[in-house]
Amino acid sequence: MINPPFTFKIEARQDRARAGKFYTPHGVLNTPVFAPVGTQASVKSLTPDQLTNINTSLVLANTYHLHLHPGDELIKELGGLHRFMYWSGPILTDSGGFQVFSLAKNRHIDNDGVTFRSHIDGSTQRLDPEKSISIQENLGADIIMAFDECSDPYDKEYVREAMVRTHAWAERCLQVKTRSDQALFGIVQGGIFEDFRQESAEHIADLEFPGNAIGGLSVGETKSEMHTILELVDRVLPENKPRYLMGVGTPEDLVNGISRGVDIFDCVLPTRLARHNTAMTRYGQRLNVVNAQYTRDAQPLDQQCDCYTCQNFSRAYIRHLIISKEMLAATLLSIHNLHTLINLAHDIRLSILAGNFDDFANRFFQIRSELELDQGGN
Ligand SMILES: [Zn+2]
Repeated sequence: MINPPFTFKIEARQDRARAGKFYTPHGVLNTPVFAPVGTQASVKSLTPDQLTNINTSLVLANTYHLHLHPGDELIKELGGLHRFMYWSGPILTDSGGFQVFSLAKNRHIDNDGVTFRSHIDGSTQRLDPEKSISIQENLGADIIMAFDECSDPYDKEYVREAMVRTHAWAERCLQVKTRSDQALFGIVQGGIFEDFRQESAEHIADLEFPGNAIGGLSVGETKSEMHTILELVDRVLPENKPRYLMGVGTPEDLVNGISRGVDIFDCVLPTRLARHNTAMTRYGQRLNVVNAQYTRDAQPLDQQCDCYTCQNFSRAYIRHLIISKEMLAATLLSIHNLHTLINLAHDIRLSILAGNFDDFANRFFQIRSELELDQGGN
């Protein structure tokens, strides 16, 4: 049976958790899914083959960075992002909004868009909904994002202003979008305020995007505030479309997010930790592999992990690579950290399909509490 692009089929549900399939022009996403971040059209230190070997299905790339360098026009000229970075699977690009609000200098926001100085060369740049869509159309990802404004989650007046602009900008993005082989997702904002989140989720749901994202979380709020917002948004957003929780990706966030109806996650954390010599275990422990205690440690990073790194290399060897400043250290740690999250999302998917996600989640939090890792819990 042929499924038109951007069909979302829910295969199984357990309470609020869902296992589904999202069809894109470059393949099917089996959800829940975790997406590595390739900011500059490269998941740092890994080849596409290595990404495939750890079962990566979706890769994220950053509009802001690629627009500034090498330029979206150049990428279009060279055949689009899939060809340029040699990734034949699904790609998602963000709108550039988050980076403008977190990286760019001298930003000035008006109702029409944002003027800012490039963090690279200080040049004056302008990003607005129309420009963001045009850049994302040049890049050619399968999933593209509406241009939104992410505010300080606690500053109520600013959160309201940013939310109102985000809604107006979402409509402008829909109006100027031209490519039918790209799914444009809307983004819910509203900080930690339940009334705003309700309003924003209703507004975005009414615009009937083929998928919806929850933005402005994991930006300084508590875990319990994040969970309250996720539960609220989950009740409002349409069930039959994928939900993407932006920029969230620790093991416990995956279990907590999926149990609150989230299907897609991305985060720089696993590759960032890898570059800081840190391994992440399935239950959220962090090992700083450079520590002297690992000098003679013949164990793998994580005893229970079946990734290429853990099957073949000891902590002592990886520590040696780090101290010798060998690039392979970042590669081996990135393989392990990404595998941990991708495989966790996959195992959760299997547990939902088998009808035992409850047991899976209970056991996960039980082990975390035995390891004395849990604070937010379930
Ligand atoms: Zn591993």
